[in-house]
Amino acid sequence: MITHRGACHCTRVRFEVIAPAALVVDQCNCSICSMTAYLHLIVPKDRFKLISGSEVLRSYSFNTGIAQHLFCSVCGVKSFYVPRSNPDGYSVNVRCLDAATIESIEVIGVDGKNWETAYPGGRGAYR
Ligand SMILES: [Zn+2]
Repeated sequence: MITHRGACHCTRVRFEVIAPAALVVDQCNCSICSMTAYLHLIVPKDRFKLISGSEVLRSYSFNTGIAQHLFCSVCGVKSFYVPRSNPDGYSVNVRCLDAATIESIEVIGVDGKNWETAYPGGRGAYR
């Protein structure tokens, strides 16, 4: 496990996430993830640290309202959020991480369009 650093486009939102250098990430086909091409690195809360930007974060919710789709109100980028599959953790957008610490990325497809079938236990794994 190492520390990766990430930020939104305008860099007001900055964070650190503890994860392997060889990342396993989820690519979801649900309505919002497919529009944003979001790449999920899902971690427990204690492996995520917001460094700056809490004052510019806004939240968008839809459907069940469980997920909190956090985005920067200045640049619009969703660099991390609280996912429906792991509401006690965070999903970090791998596209917003500093590439310097990433050794490799393995992408796993998730059928989030059919959420109940994709997560029969009602939640997802941490990576
Ligand atoms: Zn921003």
